[in-house]
Amino acid sequence: MMNKDNNKMEEIVSLCKRRGFIFQGSEIYGGLAGTWDYGPYGVLLKENIKRAWIDRFVYGKFKMYQMDAAILMNPRAWEASGHVSGFSDPLVSCKKCKKRFRADHVDGDKCPECGGYLGEEKQFNMMFKTAIGASEDESAITYLRPETAGGMFVNFKNIVDSIHPKLPFGLAQIGKAFRNEIAPRDFIFRSREFEQMEIEFFVEEDEWEKYFEEFRIQMNEWINKDLRIEESEYSELDVPKDELAHYSKKTIDFEFEYPFGRAELYGLAYRTDFDLKSHGGASGQDLMIEDSENKKTVPHVIEPSFGMDRTVLAVLITHFMKDEMGEGGRVFLKLPVNLAPVKIAVFPLLKNKPELVEKAREIFDELRGEFKAVEFDDNGNVGKRYRRQDEIGTPFCVTVDFDTLEKDNRVTVRDRDTGSQERIEIEKLKEFFQTKFS
Ligand code: ATP
Repeated sequence: MMNKDNNKMEEIVSLCKRRGFIFQGSEIYGGLAGTWDYGPYGVLLKENIKRAWIDRFVYGKFKMYQMDAAILMNPRAWEASGHVSGFSDPLVSCKKCKKRFRADHVDGDKCPECGGYLGEEKQFNMMFKTAIGASEDESAITYLRPETAGGMFVNFKNIVDSIHPKLPFGLAQIGKAFRNEIAPRDFIFRSREFEQMEIEFFVEEDEWEKYFEEFRIQMNEWINKDLRIEESEYSELDVPKDELAHYSKKTIDFEFEYPFGRAELYGLAYRTDFDLKSHGGASGQDLMIEDSENKKTVPHVIEPSFGMDRTVLAVLITHFMKDEMGEGGRVFLKLPVNLAPVKIAVFPLLKNKPELVEKAREIFDELRGEFKAVEFDDNGNVGKRYRRQDEIGTPFCVTVDFDTLEKDNRVTVRDRDTGSQERIEIEKLKEFFQTKFS
């Protein structure tokens, strides 16, 4: 992959660490390749993304039910889905330095690191194996799920029997997935443990195109309107027929312009009736539902699949900004209010003046009760606090100063994007922010 703008990636990785968004996994032990730990602001950002995703896709246009399936499943499920035999990437190893690469990521037959010759291509299964219980024979082997989808197909019958939905309807799930990637890279873009937000939408066969198109539109709106990623920063790639997975009749990849090049952000696939047929056959259970003519049918599936971590990365890249404000310029995250980890920060002008601190605390309590994601900050001077809140992406800072107490009962509200400041009456603060956030 190209290294178009390594600098920007480095700056984002460093901001994430400096400000408590994302840390290298197991850092004090030298790390663990392909793992990342989310700190306080990273967790809040992810929560906001999840909330926005649920609002659009669960409470939106379609009949949708949420699932939270176990990560560990009966290994027969992974055999039926084709993962045991086929969830692999092509692997080549260098005969000289022994490094391993994904065969489709290297050109020619020489090692990109040391120039040695590469050995023969092998298929490497990416599922992490683990053993259940105390016995270590083959019957105890299972896998950490490499995608959340499986848990939804395996529960199709439970949902039909307990909720009695009619077609079309969907299952939505957010959760961890694990892949033993040959070469984890590019920060949280390709890791070995990551989160997915997936939907399996069940339809009658002759309606698949209609719902495929509906989800294509919804995914565009999600990217544009909810994440505020501009149309110029991503594109749809109609996956060519000869590159489609064997079960898929149509797949669109949504590709984002990362600083290291254009690469997959999300996928939207028409999976036919492959999954329910396979699980029905292997389990011996009836994974059917009545269609609109009261005939039993195995429904067809539209699968929009979203990587949470790639969403976080795309959001950070899109909203990472620099300008000349403040001493020596600044870096800021121009996050939309719905995604910002902190919505408002409240400061006393000076932290050693109890009357300022007390008033600021009072305002903080009030705003926190109303808007939740509000922070009290009395570290360093106001300039430093602005710098910190800008880097976290806090849209508004509120400062209590001597005029507040002695003159006008107003506070200074400073806008992250323009740096403009206005004096707002304390009694009107809540209303002021309500209009700003609506
Ligand atoms: P890639 O071609 O980049 O390996 P994929 O086509 O294998 O991705 P899918 O199996 O379609 O990916 O997984 C659905 C989504 O999960 C992807 O669109 C991506 O957002 C996310 N995802 C997949 N693998 C990883 C990973 N190793 N790290 C982080 N996110 C991932």
